[in-house]
Order: sequence, then structure tokens, then C-alpha cells
Amino acid sequence: MLRQYELVDLVKSYDPDADEDALNRAYVFAMKKHGAQLRTSGDPYYSHPVEVAGILTKFKLDSTSIIAGLLHDTVEDTDTTIDEIRTLFGDQVAQIVDGLTKLAMIEQKSVNNKQAENFRKLLLAMSEDIRVLLIKLADRLHNMRTLHFCAPEKRARVAKETLDIYAPLAERIGMQEVKSELEEIAFAELHKEAYESIKARLNFLREQGSNLVPKIIHQLEQDMKENGIKASVSGREKTPYSIWRKMQQKNASFEQLSDIMAFRIIVDDVASCYQALGVVHSKYHMVPRRFKDYISTPKPNGYKSIHTGIIGPENTRIEIQIRTQEMHEVAEKGVAAHWAYKQGEKVVGKNFRWIRELLEILEQASNPEEFLENTKLEMYNDQVFCFTPKGDLIGLPINSTPVDFAYAVHSSVGDTCVGAKINGEIRPLRTVLQNGDQVEILTSKAQHPSTEWDRFVVTGKAKAAIRRYVRAHKRDQFIALGQQLLERTFKGENLEFNEKALVNILPNFEAESIDDIYAKVGEGLVTAWDVMKAVYPAYKQSKLEKVVKPLKSVFSKSSRKNKNKAEPLKIKGLIPGMAVHFAGCCHPLPGDRIVGIVTTGKGVAVHTIDCKVLEKFADEPERWLDISWGDAAEDTPHVGRLKVMLANEPGALGDLSNLIARSGGNINNLNIVNRTVSYFELLVDVEVKDLKHLTDIIAALKASKVVSYVSRSN
Ligand code: MN
Repeated sequence: MLRQYELVDLVKSYDPDADEDALNRAYVFAMKKHGAQLRTSGDPYYSHPVEVAGILTKFKLDSTSIIAGLLHDTVEDTDTTIDEIRTLFGDQVAQIVDGLTKLAMIEQKSVNNKQAENFRKLLLAMSEDIRVLLIKLADRLHNMRTLHFCAPEKRARVAKETLDIYAPLAERIGMQEVKSELEEIAFAELHKEAYESIKARLNFLREQGSNLVPKIIHQLEQDMKENGIKASVSGREKTPYSIWRKMQQKNASFEQLSDIMAFRIIVDDVASCYQALGVVHSKYHMVPRRFKDYISTPKPNGYKSIHTGIIGPENTRIEIQIRTQEMHEVAEKGVAAHWAYKQGEKVVGKNFRWIRELLEILEQASNPEEFLENTKLEMYNDQVFCFTPKGDLIGLPINSTPVDFAYAVHSSVGDTCVGAKINGEIRPLRTVLQNGDQVEILTSKAQHPSTEWDRFVVTGKAKAAIRRYVRAHKRDQFIALGQQLLERTFKGENLEFNEKALVNILPNFEAESIDDIYAKVGEGLVTAWDVMKAVYPAYKQSKLEKVVKPLKSVFSKSSRKNKNKAEPLKIKGLIPGMAVHFAGCCHPLPGDRIVGIVTTGKGVAVHTIDCKVLEKFADEPERWLDISWGDAAEDTPHVGRLKVMLANEPGALGDLSNLIARSGGNINNLNIVNRTVSYFELLVDVEVKDLKHLTDIIAALKASKVVSYVSRSN
């Protein structure tokens, strides 16, 4: 284990300005907090954060990162709080440790294998500060190095998770070495026999050929030189894991693999690439089907190089890559692009650029502090990743809600969702989801998509489903309503109503089915008596018009003052051609929230939304109409009912009617409900313009001496 002064010296070796005092305090703090805790290896627990800090010095990270590395498990595993860390080590360290603690919590959720890609994205999205991710990887690397101390079941699980999640993450952010080490340890754990045999085979080859790699490099260098090509040659033996992967992909045996050793020839320009290729192919045997020219046809991610397989120097099958320095840079730095290619994905240009910038920053040893502080992870910050109760990860656009989540799971779940539990607590459906939330959707068969949802959902899938439902549902409503209207109208005239008769008149209304006719009547595109006239052409029209009262006549009758006015009251949402009246039970006024009830024989009754009578219709949703007041409403008087307690004294009644008249109201009816020595209790029906008008009158009455109590009444 690194001693305190060794760690500080390591940091100071590349960052002379590092905060030595803070490093020392963090070392001691971690040691004290983890106290007597032990790792499974039997080592004191604090050796783990110290080793993690040591790994971080290999990346030449700033002292903030090293301190956060030392403290990374204190909040999760000891009684330390984030506030304590903030007080002692500042905001930045606290923020990073907080990020790591959150990641640790996310990690504990089991994730299905096929969700690995989403899980990687989640980790990236949650690591707002690049240092969170770097420390997380160092943490994982040390845990892998000490994996052999753990119980076998745990080892397999951790190794698999490392292969699925962390090695690709390390590769994505350009940490090739970390990636390889993670893969090798995990591979050795998961496929012990394969690992051992490949390793043994490599050792055998190495002993046989005694330093084959340098020999081949030397020969290739000679070949280039003799042909006047300026080139630098490098070569390496592939790792057991990458060999094994290749064996799997190509379904080949170890002996069949030609590229256990890979060599690279880097030249100055494109012309030299082809010259070098010519030299190689004319001197050595080419292995069939191993030649690829990615210079004339680059890979989708922009990768350029020439690949070929030959029986090369020392009579060994090798793979050779030939490229320019510039191509090499792109290939090496564009690890994200390379990785994405191997994953069979399309490469997003933005991510590619981000990786390159990150690598440039990491290579800057001079002032790591400043660079790291300005490097915020911006990958996937337009997405949010949430868990299903089973551990599946669902990726959604930012600002998504449980309804979006439900539709992403399945449209039937979305259609029937009534509520959501987020992290175990019931939350409103409009709640904005956060990264890592576990979302459980509560469903009910009685539920259906609501237009309300349209106000807060963000995914196209949810929006489309809601609109589709509303459209289809409206038609259902229109069909039911149209059928009712027709039956009622026919019945009212003592005419036989049957669907067969309607079939004959389909062409009259450009309808393809009887439902089409119903829907047209329900929507008001065609009136019921149009249909009746079509079925019974001989029936007298004048009689019909008496039955189906146009809206206008209803209102001119109900209002003496406006009986000559042509403009009818406008209520939105009514069925044109359908009779309408105001319910006597609740006296709706413009300004009240209202609802229409399709009555039997009397058209639509308008009630206030809180009218008690509505309870009777609770089980008949097909009779309810969503209506609201239109613009012309205030021109037409309406009757509002007041309950008034009036002093029993001379002139009181006169005062009351005067007050109402002066406020522009007109008393329509007046009933004395109760009478005592001191009071009259009255119900007064007043013609008013709208709800506000009635409220003004109530206010005027309240101010009067003779009125002791006044309120609106049903
Ligand atoms: Mn740890």
C-alpha cells in the first residue's frame, strides 16, 4: 500500500503546485473514517481508496481528483456526510464524492445484460464531472485487481459487469490501458480454461520464436529502407482476450488465427502507403481474403488504413496495417468512434469530437487542474435513463414523465396508466423523471388516454397514442349520440326506426356504413330530420321542424327581452340541430363551468358542473357532453337564483328590488320560503348577463342594511 508521503510525492512529481496539505488531510481522514473496516483480502479497508488514488496518479490527475479518490467510499460506507466533506475539502471534492456515491447506488440495481449500452449511457449521463467517471474506473480497476479475494459467485458477477459496462466505458473515454487490464482480469475470471490455454500457447510461441516481434519489426524496417520508403514500424502481440474474441467471431482455432501478432507501418503520405503495400506483397505471400483497403473506402466512422495478412518474416502469419501519421492519430484518438464501430452503431459526430478533446486535455500534464474543471461531461445530457421494476433500463428524452415511460414500455401500459410509483413513492403522472429513477406504472383497465396528458408528455410515441385515442373515441361518442338522436326523432314522430332503412340511404350522405351516418348526425354535419326525410321522403317537413327545435327558438322563448334577436346563445361543444335548455335545478350562468346531459326527448340539458343532479348520470357517460360558454353568451339574459334573508320591516322588499334594478338585474320571480318576526327568507330569481353580474348584485345586496344574508342558491 502507498504510504502517505509516497502518494503526495507522486502527485507533486507531475503537479508541483498540488495542495499538499489537503492531500495529507484527505489521506488521514479516509484512514480514520474507514477505521477498523476490513476488505475481504484482510487488508484494512482504507488501503482501497489509497490504491485508487495511486491509480489516479498514473493518469496524472489534479489533486482534487486524488482527494476525491481517497474519500470516494467515505459517504457510502461510513458515517461521513457530504456536508462534512464540503466543509473540510471544498465544493468540488464534495460534488465529485456525491456523484460517486450516487453511482454506487445506481450500481446496486441489477441490470439485464442487453441493457448494458443504456447502463453505460446512464453512468456517463450521471457523471457530470469527467473526474467522477475517471475515479469510478480507477475504483473498478482496483476492485478487479483484488477480485480473487472475493467469493466465487460475486467474482463472476463483477467480472461480467466489468466486461459489459466498464471496459467499454474505459475504451470510450480513451483509457486503452485500463480497458485492456479490466478485460484481461474479467476474461481470466469468466473463462479460466480458455484464458490459461491461450496464455500457454502464447508462451510456447514466444519461447519457440524467441523474440519474434522485434525480429519481424527489424525485417520490415529493412524492407522499407531498401525500397526508399521512410517509415516507422511497430508491432505487438495481441492480448489473450482479444485473441479469444477473434476466435469466437471467426469461429477459428488458435492456429488458424493469423493476427496473434499485429504490425503497423506508418508512412508520410498516401502514395507511400501503396508503395509500402507493394513492397510487402511482392516480397511475402499474401493470405487470401485478408486484404482491405480502407483508404479508398474508409469505414463509416472515418477510419482509414490498409490492412493485409501475409506469411511474413520468420515464416509467420501476421497482420499488417499501413497508414499515414494523420490516419494513425484519428484511429488512436477516435477510440469512441472505433468502439462504436465494433458495437455496430452509427457514430455520432458530437461524441467523437468530445473524446478527442478529452484526450487532448488528459495529455496536458502542465495544468491538469484548470482543464479538468472546465471539462463537463456533456454526453447524453439530452436524455434520461430510468429503471423498470424488473431492472430494465429505458432511455427517454429529457423532461420525460411517467406517461412517456409507460408508453416506452408498451402502448397498452401507456393507454391504461393511472399513476406511477417513482422510487417506491406515488407521484403525479406529470412528474419529470430523473436519471436512475425506478418507475413503476400503475394501470387500470378502466383508464384511457387523456387529453390532459398531451400537455406534459414529450415523446412522440405518447403524443401520437393520445391523439389517436381521442380521435377514435370522439367518433365513438358521435356514433352513440347520433344513434340516440335518430331513434328519438323517429320515435317522436311515431315512425319506425330500423337500420335496414338506413342502408338504402347511405349514398345520400356519402356514408360507407350506418356508423358513418350516426357519426355525421352526432357530429352535427347532418341533422336527424335530414335523415328522416331521406328515409320517408313523403313525410311532411313542417311537422318535423316542430319536433327538432333549432337552438334559436329555445332561447328566444326563454328570454323575453331578446326574443327578436337573431343571434342565439353560443355554447361550444353542442350538437348543431339539437335542442338545448338550462336545467332548473342549478340555473347555470355564463361563467359557470357547465356540462351537457343528453336527456330523453328534451335534447341537451345544461347543468353547472357541481350540480347534485349530475350524480344520477354517473353511470351513463355516453349522455355527457363537454360544453362551455361561447363568445356571444353575455348578450342573452339568464336566470340566477338568490337566497336572501331580509329584515322584516317596512320598505325592506322595496329596497331589495331597487338595489337589484340599479345593478342592472331584473327580478323574474320571488318566493317567500320562510317568515319570522324579524326576517323573511326569500328565493329571488334574477335575470342577469352572467355569473359576474350575479356576483356584483350579491355584493351590492350584502352592503345593504336590510339584507342580513345573501348567497347564490340552486
Ligand atoms: Mn471503492
